[in-house]
Amino acid sequence: MKGWWARGSLRRRLLCAHLVTIAAGAITLLGTTLLFAPSLHDRLMIAWLGPHWSMTADAGMVEMERATNAIFTLAMAQALAISSGVAILVAVMVSLAASRQIAQPLERLLVAAQRIAAGHYRERAPVQGDYELARLAAQFNTMAAALENAEQRRVALIGDVAHELRTPLATIAGYVEGMLDAVVEPDEGTWALVLDEVNRLRRLAGDLQELSRVEAGQVALNTTAVAPAALCAAALARLEPQFAEKGVMLRIHVAPDLPPVSADPDRVLQVLINLLGNALRYTPAGGEVVVQAVKAGDTVRWAVRDTGIGIAAEHLPHLFERFYRVDKARTRATGGAGIGLTICKALVELHGGQIWVESAGLGQGATFFFTLPLFHRYE
Ligand code: ADP
Repeated sequence: MKGWWARGSLRRRLLCAHLVTIAAGAITLLGTTLLFAPSLHDRLMIAWLGPHWSMTADAGMVEMERATNAIFTLAMAQALAISSGVAILVAVMVSLAASRQIAQPLERLLVAAQRIAAGHYRERAPVQGDYELARLAAQFNTMAAALENAEQRRVALIGDVAHELRTPLATIAGYVEGMLDAVVEPDEGTWALVLDEVNRLRRLAGDLQELSRVEAGQVALNTTAVAPAALCAAALARLEPQFAEKGVMLRIHVAPDLPPVSADPDRVLQVLINLLGNALRYTPAGGEVVVQAVKAGDTVRWAVRDTGIGIAAEHLPHLFERFYRVDKARTRATGGAGIGLTICKALVELHGGQIWVESAGLGQGATFFFTLPLFHRYE
């Protein structure tokens, strides 16, 4: 059960704590004074009158010494009682001010937290000074900023998804209405165009589902020791026909004795195929794509380098963001919704690796890098 002093607001608790401390101090002071005052008085009297005074003193003097001792002790006790009273009064005032100083920032923090809980994500707590409560308020504000950011991303995501859905749906509606009004021929060509848009929607739904699963950490990795050369060979086997068809050369540079990485082979293959698919998409016929894997510290670093259209510097920091496309019109025609790289990033980070892109600019090709931890780190 809680003590009476621990009930109520923080201010009251602080005030009670201060009062209890002062009362304990005053009682201790009074007790020790009453305990030591008589003997101290006697010692001082002996020092003043001389060590042999009791032998020469008459009964009157002894009685007088006893009386002064009693009066001295009483005076000390009264003085202490008065000063304790005054001290408690002063302490109450100081404590009121001090407890307000401590409780006020906490009360403001509480109000800010309540407003954020009610959906006002812009709310921030005032930060004054550099002591613990100010640091708590600063941390609270950092958390509030993260929440605000997450909320903005959520709203933006809904807007982006709606936007991505609208275009294919409008196209499908256009064809179907055209056929109903007999302005468009319901022939094989028209149905193929409708099917294209349906497939685009299906791909978008699949990508979004995959992205949400990866970002929510719902993808369980079956991590094992994976040989980089085997992964590259698997990717090559999958994509070689498409590269040959477009007339883009695909080369792999992986030392066969490269140490194994700790990874889920299916997921890494997914990343490699995604990067290679992009490289093929953005590299014109006659170009070249090279996959390289080298040991870099505690990791193996992959590089997928192409001689394609390249990426302007201002786009580089945004490529891994959801729905980010450099040229919306061009990528719409080729089918991308700008989610592929976001999924790659989430998958690589799930493995404890990093992913980034470099490009010297438009027309200069692009290189996508990613790292995966060496297997021995987990042994
Ligand atoms: P998408 O499915 O639209 O390709 P991604 O997330 O895979 O989406 O890629 C995002 C954007 O990055 C693309 O729209 C494209 O503009 C750019 N991009 C990706 N890979 C390359 C590359 N190898 N060369 C040039 N641009 C690229």
